[in-house]
Amino acid sequence: MTELLFLLLPVAAAYGYVMGKNSAKNQALELNRQITSQYSKGLKYLLDREEDQGLEHLIELLEVSADSVEHYLTLATLFRKRGELDRAIKIHELLLNQPNLSASDMASCRLELAQDYILAGLLDSAEEHLVVLVKNHNVEALDPIINLYSQMRDWRKGINMYESHRELFTKQQHFAAIANFYCETALADDNSKLMEQACALEHNIVRPFYELGKDAYSKQDHLKAIYYWRKLIVANTNTAPLYINELEHSYHALNLKHQFDDLIEELMPKGGVLIRIKYCQALLEAEEQQKAIEFLTDSLKREPSIRGFSFLLQLLGNNNHRIKDVLSEIDKLVTSYIATKPEYQCQHCGFTSHTLYWLCPSCKHWETIGPSKGLDGY
Ligand SMILES: [Zn+2]
Repeated sequence: MTELLFLLLPVAAAYGYVMGKNSAKNQALELNRQITSQYSKGLKYLLDREEDQGLEHLIELLEVSADSVEHYLTLATLFRKRGELDRAIKIHELLLNQPNLSASDMASCRLELAQDYILAGLLDSAEEHLVVLVKNHNVEALDPIINLYSQMRDWRKGINMYESHRELFTKQQHFAAIANFYCETALADDNSKLMEQACALEHNIVRPFYELGKDAYSKQDHLKAIYYWRKLIVANTNTAPLYINELEHSYHALNLKHQFDDLIEELMPKGGVLIRIKYCQALLEAEEQQKAIEFLTDSLKREPSIRGFSFLLQLLGNNNHRIKDVLSEIDKLVTSYIATKPEYQCQHCGFTSHTLYWLCPSCKHWETIGPSKGLDGY
């Protein structure tokens, strides 16, 4: 109930405004009497714990205090935080119907009302208001409407919105969402053209390149698999664990192993334990075992990694057959430890998982989950 005392502020403001503007003393007094009467009624209801009627009376005062919209928005936000969505919705709807509302207040109000509807599960009503905002070039409506279409799994509507209002899109997160809308539609319709459209978004997007490479690889179109995965690994080395073994196989299949080795050398400065392991494997193939051990030992000192340590144990075992069995037992322990660690982590909220999700189940951001980093990661 204390939140309703917020309404004292607009009433006081309205009173001051009316008194200042109106030189006719009697008119001012009459208006004052009406406001005071209305306010007293509202307050009395509230004190009698009849909050619904109290709210009605106080909301009626809006007509004479339209310049105090902010206070009402604050009040509605408080109701929403307390889970009283019906009241938040009521205030926002009444505010929206005020004829004197400025365009910016109306937009704020519409945005808030859409949020109320989303929380109340009234997604169609929320969409209606958000669409109006997007049509009015309101960038703030992008986050909620993208989240809404993700929730509704209505990828087509999301794509249509993007194609009609490209000028509003500037954030990486929004491009990632739209790219994934294209991917979801492409997978559902088995239409790789849409996936290629997503690649054209050119905003460090991951999934369409990954999916196109995966699709080509499954069809043994190794040239195409290399084309997409190479682009992806150069732009975003962190994604390597998702496909690096298959990429290597594609190079092998086309007798282009030397090109894969060149690629690994090119990627070395960008780091990642898998890249370093692939580099060591190339040294082993060139029968430079000692050089591989020294390289890996040195790199593990600078950047410790359990996966790198596991590979070092294998190298040392192969180099010294007397202790190979002991090292092999230690490696088994290390490998089983690694298996308990989640392979993927969200860079936005920290959510961890053994499964790769393109849409984080926790923070609802697209493409923020990738292979884990750090000591236990890649
Ligand atoms: Zn997250």
